[in-house]
Amino acid sequence: MGDHEAPGGDITGSDPAGRIEQGRLLFAGPCDFVLGAADLAQLPEPDRPEVAFAGRSNVGKSSLINALTGRKTLARTSNTPGRTQQINVFALGREDIGRLYLIDLPGYGFAAAPKPQVARWTRLVNGYLKSRPGLRRVFLLIDARHGVKPPDAAVMANLDTAAVSYQAVLTKADKITAAELDVRLAATAETLRRHPAAHPEILATSVVKSLGIAELRAEIAALADA
Ligand code: GDP
Repeated sequence: MGDHEAPGGDITGSDPAGRIEQGRLLFAGPCDFVLGAADLAQLPEPDRPEVAFAGRSNVGKSSLINALTGRKTLARTSNTPGRTQQINVFALGREDIGRLYLIDLPGYGFAAAPKPQVARWTRLVNGYLKSRPGLRRVFLLIDARHGVKPPDAAVMANLDTAAVSYQAVLTKADKITAAELDVRLAATAETLRRHPAAHPEILATSVVKSLGIAELRAEIAALADA
């Protein structure tokens, strides 16, 4: 990976080692599956900060959540079409180390998804974005091999409209070369510049190489209730 030890993020800001440690501590603490909500009424009260994960089906969202939490089967790799789309809620941390909900939004952009399923996804996610005052950031997962595709651009536009802050996270960075990753990071940054609600920093991750995981934990910990 060469120069890619600390790709993007705010980790280059003040006290990077302290922030990484804060992230490690948060994810070393309790992490419990709360529920899978098929509709918004089932979500827990928004009584603490939360971050959400969104991405196309198969982008590696479940793998990344499992890598972050260090639990192999916390997020089931099961967002297959036909299954009821759910918002999965995980409760992280404790009062002393910070508390936060980690929200796993259903995957989108499945080529074979029938129209009613797309409409349902849009309703559920837009309803989610509007109803959660504690939502600090959406991590928008983008496959490092493919970059931003039309379904991702549609979600970005949606997040801009909802004025929800979001940050791009490239997944599966191990599947491309360091040079290709540089090109992908630059192209993604260029796209993000056109999106007002997008965080300018991009994180590159790989669960296979444990790349960017500690940095993503640190980003999340910085958004928790301390
Ligand atoms: P989801 O549908 O977004 O939850 O995606 P999954 O987590 O189920 O991952 C989809 C596929 O990509 C699975 O075969 C994973 O093993 C694979 N995958 C996920 N993350 C990585 C990664 O960082 N590197 C590589 N090489 N494969 C990955």
